[in-house]
Amino acid sequence: MSLNRYPGWLCMIAALSLAAGCGGGGDSGVATAGENRNASAAAQANHFCGAIPERPWCNASLPPDTRADLLVAAMTREQKLGMLAGDDLTAVFSGIPYTGIVQGIPALGIPDIRMSDGPAGVRGGPATAMPTPMALAATFNPDLAYATGVAIAEEVRHKGNNLVHGPVADVIRNPLSGRTFETFGEDPVLASRMVAEWVKGAQSQGVMANVKHFAAYVQEGILPLVPLLLAAVGDRHLYNAVVSERALREIYLPPFRAAVVGANAASVMCAYNYVNGEPACSNSYLLDQVLHDDWGFTGFVVTDYILAQKNTIKTANTDVAVIEMPIGVFFHPLLLKTAMATGAVSAATINAHVHDILYTLFRFGFFDRPPYERNKEAIDFEAHAEVAREVITQGTVLLKNAGMLPLDENRLTNIAVIGASATEIPSGGGSSHVTPVRVITPLEGITQRAGPNIDVRYNDGSNIDAAAALAARSDMAIVFASDVSAEGMDKFCLSLDCTLADLPDSLLLNAVGHGVPDLLDRLLDPLLTSPAISALLAQLTGPILVGAPLLPVSHRAQGRLIAAVAAANPATTVVLQTSGPVLTPWRDKVNAILEAWYPGQEAGYALAAILFGDTVPGGRLPVTFPAAETDTPVAGNPARYPGILNQVHFSEGIFIGYRWFDENHVEPAYPFGYGLSYTNFEYSHLVVANDNSGLSVSIRVNNVGDRGGWAVPQLYVGLPSPQGVPQPPKALKGFEKLWLEPGEVRTVHFALDQRALSYWHTGNNDWVVAPGCYRIMVGRSSRDLPLQSAVPMAGGGCGS
Ligand code: BGC
Repeated sequence: MSLNRYPGWLCMIAALSLAAGCGGGGDSGVATAGENRNASAAAQANHFCGAIPERPWCNASLPPDTRADLLVAAMTREQKLGMLAGDDLTAVFSGIPYTGIVQGIPALGIPDIRMSDGPAGVRGGPATAMPTPMALAATFNPDLAYATGVAIAEEVRHKGNNLVHGPVADVIRNPLSGRTFETFGEDPVLASRMVAEWVKGAQSQGVMANVKHFAAYVQEGILPLVPLLLAAVGDRHLYNAVVSERALREIYLPPFRAAVVGANAASVMCAYNYVNGEPACSNSYLLDQVLHDDWGFTGFVVTDYILAQKNTIKTANTDVAVIEMPIGVFFHPLLLKTAMATGAVSAATINAHVHDILYTLFRFGFFDRPPYERNKEAIDFEAHAEVAREVITQGTVLLKNAGMLPLDENRLTNIAVIGASATEIPSGGGSSHVTPVRVITPLEGITQRAGPNIDVRYNDGSNIDAAAALAARSDMAIVFASDVSAEGMDKFCLSLDCTLADLPDSLLLNAVGHGVPDLLDRLLDPLLTSPAISALLAQLTGPILVGAPLLPVSHRAQGRLIAAVAAANPATTVVLQTSGPVLTPWRDKVNAILEAWYPGQEAGYALAAILFGDTVPGGRLPVTFPAAETDTPVAGNPARYPGILNQVHFSEGIFIGYRWFDENHVEPAYPFGYGLSYTNFEYSHLVVANDNSGLSVSIRVNNVGDRGGWAVPQLYVGLPSPQGVPQPPKALKGFEKLWLEPGEVRTVHFALDQRALSYWHTGNNDWVVAPGCYRIMVGRSSRDLPLQSAVPMAGGGCGS
């Protein structure tokens, strides 16, 4: 990576820490300069090779592989088995001082593996609450994924840890999934690029990335807190993903491959669920065939915490090293010894696993320097906040603008800010919940930015009539709305008015038609949204366990609030702060809509700057926004979701996200890739060249407006359908993010290799470029592709 690829703010981050420099330190992860060597670190240094260089494996001139061999040969069986499981059950609940630990062996100089969540910032005490990965995905800017990986890993390191449980490489199949906000959206190409850069950024800081959750982890389940219903509602610990190899290879595995093959990730976390009948953590297809054989993974696998590992012998005999977290249950030394005594697990297998773990620790240089210290003072929170603001700016998606934005402060004397979430920093619950080092709410940000000449008046929206009345007597209104989403339970519905009464929609599986849920809604909604019950439910939906709410509903009737405010004053802008897609039935009634996702601690500054036009929104949708609850790939099909008797049939195959909407001719509210700017871009000059190794495509983008802005040209390809093999009408194959000044014209090049043009041929068990006609489409979103061409490949033709 070249230095000039990064803007100043990113260079600042890189310069902050270690010797990575602006281009990053690749994946060696070895970094020494500028480290915080205080007295306590010096005291611990004798755990490492610095103090005991005479040991053969401490010879830093030897390759990591040889050093690992030498060390394994010097270890007792107890010492080796101890490396295969974590040593602390309790820390996972607080994240302090780590989420989990595999204690090192001081006598041999083996360092601890200290693991920390997570994907949106570091758990365990105050940290920079970054915008969630969904917001990062919406930037369509891999450089920002790199910068985020750098910032988060730097905080992990200064909290004394050396492995980060992130990034999340799962692809969104069902937008109700409770962890939608933790992902990079519904497209494998977008997710792959973001995941790879995040891993590179994190590992440039000498922190091992642990990419998760491998694989086909797509849902939390409905009401998993109710044990008796577990078997019926697709709980994440129990469901079996019945999924074709093609869907795995084309949709669910590519982001993991990008992390492992493209970014040399140190570690992979195996998921809670089963995949085609085998637990993910002992799945021979996933671990032996794909991870080990196909991708040549040399690191180690960490099981997801508590109940992901489901057996001893099978897991021990996989071709990759597995560490059970947070403590050894199935990998309790007694069980492993018994398995060895009976010959079910060989000493050579254990040696190979321990070798791989140690190899990775050598590769990252952990033997050759002191451990990372817990030192909050060393964290440059200001620089990380700057990255966070940039992610919000480039990731906030302008869904609609009928002229209101940016706000014209010369014509405004007052603004009504409405909605409880204007005074909050909505965030996802569960293991990726971050305690922010500081909070600037949207209301504070807007008030500060508006200054003394504009009167900012606030109403929390709990009384819809009062809120509408305020809007009516104001120059304009900005309504803030959010949803509730957390690890551990899926959302009941995509509506902003989702209440407990919507549970039947999920539990009755959308399969009984809409009569029953509708009736219940009509009966229960008035009760559930009454002030007294709302107040009670607000308590219940507040954070109760590491940020996870008890129920995934908000009880704020926000859709109705928006509609009422817009009816009172059409000069209404809506700012959504949501996990992922929500329904927008009121979209025709408001003037402007911004989707800011869960924007993290800097929301106030960044959103105010966008609203007032100091910056411009640069995001594009990494997920399709459906027009109705029933419009998702899994709705109306209980076998798909939540699954029947825990068998979750991925019968839609490769048709998820926009692939599903396109294939089934369903009009979304807002399509994948969509997002407006404060300016306009013209696309022209499509050139497609077929150079034996693949295709090269170029286009021109022209900023034809009178403001600078972020263009995101997107290249989609429609593959031919050989022998009736179904292909999506189009699939994203390339994208760029570029800033263009007014009038500026730039040429953008895309290179498509053979893999990009191929599909997974189940019979051949391989990637195949089919003979036929390839449709090339370039433009602003998956549904706005003005540049089109067709090119024959692999001996096929395009007709006349
Ligand atoms: C989550 C993981 C997380 C782990 C440790 C699990 O419940 O699924 O993503 O890293 O907890 O907090």
